[in-house]
Amino acid sequence: EAVVHWFKRDLRLNDNRALHLAAAKAKSKNVPLICMFIVSPQDYQAHLTSPARVDFELRTLAIMKADLGAMDIPLYVTSIEKRKRIPEHIMQLCERWGARHLYCNIEYEVDELRREAMMARKCLERGIAFTAVHDDVVVPPGTLKTGQGKQFAVYSPWFRAWIAHVHKHPELLEAFEAPGQNPFSAREKFKEVFEMVIPAAPPNKSLSDEEKKRFERLWPAGEHEALERLDRFLSERIGTYKDTRNFPAANSTATISVHHSAGTLAARTSVRRARDANSTKKLDGGNLGIAGWISEVAWRDFYKHVLAHWPYICMHKPFKYEYTNIEWEYNDAHFDAWCTGRTGFPIVDAAMRQLNHMGYMHNRCRMIVASFLAKDLLIDWRMGEIYFMEHLIDGDFASNNGGWGFSASTGVDPQPYFRIFNPLLQSEKFDPEGEYIRKWVQELAEVKGKAIHDPYGRGAGDIAKRNGYPKPIVDHRKCRERALARYKAGIGRE
Ligand code: FAD
Repeated sequence: EAVVHWFKRDLRLNDNRALHLAAAKAKSKNVPLICMFIVSPQDYQAHLTSPARVDFELRTLAIMKADLGAMDIPLYVTSIEKRKRIPEHIMQLCERWGARHLYCNIEYEVDELRREAMMARKCLERGIAFTAVHDDVVVPPGTLKTGQGKQFAVYSPWFRAWIAHVHKHPELLEAFEAPGQNPFSAREKFKEVFEMVIPAAPPNKSLSDEEKKRFERLWPAGEHEALERLDRFLSERIGTYKDTRNFPAANSTATISVHHSAGTLAARTSVRRARDANSTKKLDGGNLGIAGWISEVAWRDFYKHVLAHWPYICMHKPFKYEYTNIEWEYNDAHFDAWCTGRTGFPIVDAAMRQLNHMGYMHNRCRMIVASFLAKDLLIDWRMGEIYFMEHLIDGDFASNNGGWGFSASTGVDPQPYFRIFNPLLQSEKFDPEGEYIRKWVQELAEVKGKAIHDPYGRGAGDIAKRNGYPKPIVDHRKCRERALARYKAGIGRE
């Protein structure tokens, strides 16, 4: 007999609900615990997973394999091209290992829920107990309802309900202990699993040697790094988070999203540690930086709640149905300029170059570039959503879709469509000294003062031109009028 834990986007040993339950079951039955992770190139393709993210996961798995190995727990990792074959493969492994218990944490996307439903059926047919539990979010989707018993589609009241619920149920933040030594030495029996090597990234998701080094340096993998990063943030920067979080040059956010998204860090761990650092020992009140940060982590929960309740957002449909018929521009040159950071709007270009270099972009800039694509360029926001997923190391369907819907005014709790970001004002307000722009747009490094925000319009055109920096590809004022008209007409159209 054996107990199996199936890792997915929960790549950690600490504070992992399903893994903890699996380990407890193995202990109670005095049978070996075996862990597994299935790499599926087709899954990566379907989810538009970025090569940087695939690399991050594989690096993390190598760390986990060593950590588990030190506890005599084997980690089986293999690559299966067709994702449809995964459930059957897992069943065959369970049979081979004599496993009667299979554990995993739930993922809320439609494909994943279908896969889990198939697993449940297959397990039933074979007499294997299948346990899939909530772990990815602090408050499981479906728990919170409005006074009328409906689902929340607006963040603020949802967040108030979230806070009240967690305060009432502090157990939601309790940590799940990591598994200890395997209760049953599995070294001999599972020798070949211990010896398995982590597969290489599929060719279409591989990084060049230079990129590999760069991403390893920028984003060290694994849960130990995640916890250290969290601790550093909590001790050094969280206090000023509320006042500084919107300034991309300030380096004041936790830069921890890749860990939440790959599951090297549980959102629960982050919220618990932040709460414990608060003078009130609560999620709100006390230190404004801490309370503000917790409310941002809660956005992640909120978007998973939206995903679970309105699954059609997984099918490229806008949350707001009436926004289905907006007539978008499909201008390849504009889209290409946006992707490569050559729009002639320095703040937009700086942000896109940060994304292309780091697989990461500051939240304020994500909003600016998303608004610019959907409103100024009037390009279908879903093209931007896809580009983000293909390049972000922290790509997460729910947060990304939520962020795009918010910025393009097609999503849950959006900016009203007539509120259109002015890229110049955003730039002046959130990068007042132009530090962020100078860092990422080398062509403008020597531009002094306020001209950095609009070099051609503010007397620095010579420098910009000499260094090959493009002129603005559109006129914001005209674009604004066009967007207002198109959105208005689109909503009116049946
Ligand atoms: P911090 O400010 O330190 O916040 C702490 C944590 O809270 C983050 O790590 C993240 O897990 C969560 N969080 C913060 N803000 C948000 C938010 N607005 N929505 C959801 N969760 C949030 N986040 C992703 O993790 N993956 C994505 O694919 C993603 N795509 C986005 C696309 C757009 C258009 C927009 C506007 C936002 C997107 N975000 C996404 C949310 C947010 O930009 C990032 O989570 C944040 O920038 C990560 O940096 P940080 O870890 O320093 O965040």
